[in-house]
Amino acid sequence: METTGQQFIAGERRSGTSGEPFSVINPATGEVLATDTLAGVEDLDAAVAAAREAFAEWSRTTPAERSAAMLRWADRLQARSEEFARTESAQGGKPIRLAREFDVPGSIDNVRFFAGAARALDGRATAEYSGEHTSAIRREPVGVIGSIAPWNYPLQMAVWKILPAVAAGNTVVLKPAELTPLTSVMLAEAAQAAGIPDGVVNIVTGRGPVVGEALVNHPDVAMVSFTGSTSVGRRVAAQAAGSVKRVHLELGGKAPFVVFDDADPEAAARGAVAGALINSGQDCTAATRAYVQRPLYRAFVERVAELMDGVRLGPVDDPATDMGSLISLRQRDSVAAMVEQARGEGATVVRGGKIPDGPLGEAAYYEPTLVTGAAQDSAIVQREVFGPVLVCLPFDDDDEALRLANDTPYGLAASAWTTNLYRAGRATREIRAGCVWVNDHIPIISEMPHGGYKASGFGKDMSAYSFEEYTNVKHVMTDITGDAHKSWHDTVFTSRSTVVS
Ligand code: NAD
Repeated sequence: METTGQQFIAGERRSGTSGEPFSVINPATGEVLATDTLAGVEDLDAAVAAAREAFAEWSRTTPAERSAAMLRWADRLQARSEEFARTESAQGGKPIRLAREFDVPGSIDNVRFFAGAARALDGRATAEYSGEHTSAIRREPVGVIGSIAPWNYPLQMAVWKILPAVAAGNTVVLKPAELTPLTSVMLAEAAQAAGIPDGVVNIVTGRGPVVGEALVNHPDVAMVSFTGSTSVGRRVAAQAAGSVKRVHLELGGKAPFVVFDDADPEAAARGAVAGALINSGQDCTAATRAYVQRPLYRAFVERVAELMDGVRLGPVDDPATDMGSLISLRQRDSVAAMVEQARGEGATVVRGGKIPDGPLGEAAYYEPTLVTGAAQDSAIVQREVFGPVLVCLPFDDDDEALRLANDTPYGLAASAWTTNLYRAGRATREIRAGCVWVNDHIPIISEMPHGGYKASGFGKDMSAYSFEEYTNVKHVMTDITGDAHKSWHDTVFTSRSTVVS
């Protein structure tokens, strides 16, 4: 497909200069999609310099100008949407149906949302709070934003990081995951085609410990916005502290899925399968721990197993395929090892728990997997598996369910399944997570925020809330009395000898 050009710096598509070759591989087939040279620190420096230069102009464009450019950007994406879907599907090993119906339209909608939101940045009312001054709020862009993204939803993550930043007048250097840079570069190209000035959006594809760390430590980068694992997020936050950079962290998740005994059992079972297997379970909000009240438990496990049997694994470019591969053989082996560990600790693998037979087994596929009988403190319940694995455990009463739901270090997303209004109300209040769905699990929308509690990080992507990350709030206080002697001066000195009345 591509041979070079996995960097987009100062409006130019080019190769990295590190000398280290790399390939982008379709993990569902092993096909090489692109080969190129990774970025080195000099490329990163060039991208930050371009973003810094572009900031002077972009930060002074009017909201209407930024909005118009972003609407043109969305149109460019729309016009290339099938190409985006095919590339996203191939580099991620994800089914073309998911790329066409979720990744790409969701990303385009996000661009359109921020085109609108750019014109509605708000602050508190301008007013005379002291009686002697007018106080006003200026919301200003922060500067050059250093963004770091993971591989699971490459296009959506790039959009979530870039759009609120540029809508607010910032410029961006984004480092995508080395496994999946293709659609981030295409996104930057589309920005240029839409008339967004060179240097506003830069993509630097390099290794995390090299280019990622250089981005975090760069003196001209004003803020770091990171989406990825909690372990790398901790390191990013620690390094950013050295230069007192603003940090936004979207980290791992281990979402509970709580089914009370008055829930619609069929809706819950279907929701669990879709919520656990979306993107082969490589979704930070995926349903990973189903807690089911004992009267429904057995039937729920049986129905989930039955539905998993019907999930079609296959070529990712076939619209009939439900589930694709994992991102890499390494990720597949890590998932397999966690399931084996659970089995070794006495858990029951009700479905899956293995690499499929036949040709799919040679690529990074892993079967939809249902595990029961795991201990609450075991790794499969506590740690991110990031694969198509659902653990199902029973509970007896509401207190226990909510305690178990909160019993991991994470707090990104959760769902409660019930037809009882009061139970739903209590669950939404007591589950500590950035999103709690009631009788559903997974849907996201551009108007609403996404972000974590606890070890899932802090700050928000999407929605107008994300502007809190990407703007500085400045108080401007203007004297409206014209008096040389202000009443508050008396608290410091009382002499009026030089005041001419
Ligand atoms: P990862 O943490 O390994 O890598 C994320 C990014 O950080 C990559 O671009 C990587 O190159 C870079 N990186 C690695 N080491 C670095 C370093 N020392 N300094 C700076 N950057 C560095 O995560 P991943 O495996 O790519 O993605 C999966 C993880 O992302 C999961 O934990 C998942 O839950 C999380 N995730 C979270 C959200 C969310 O919104 N909370 C969304 C998607 C994925």
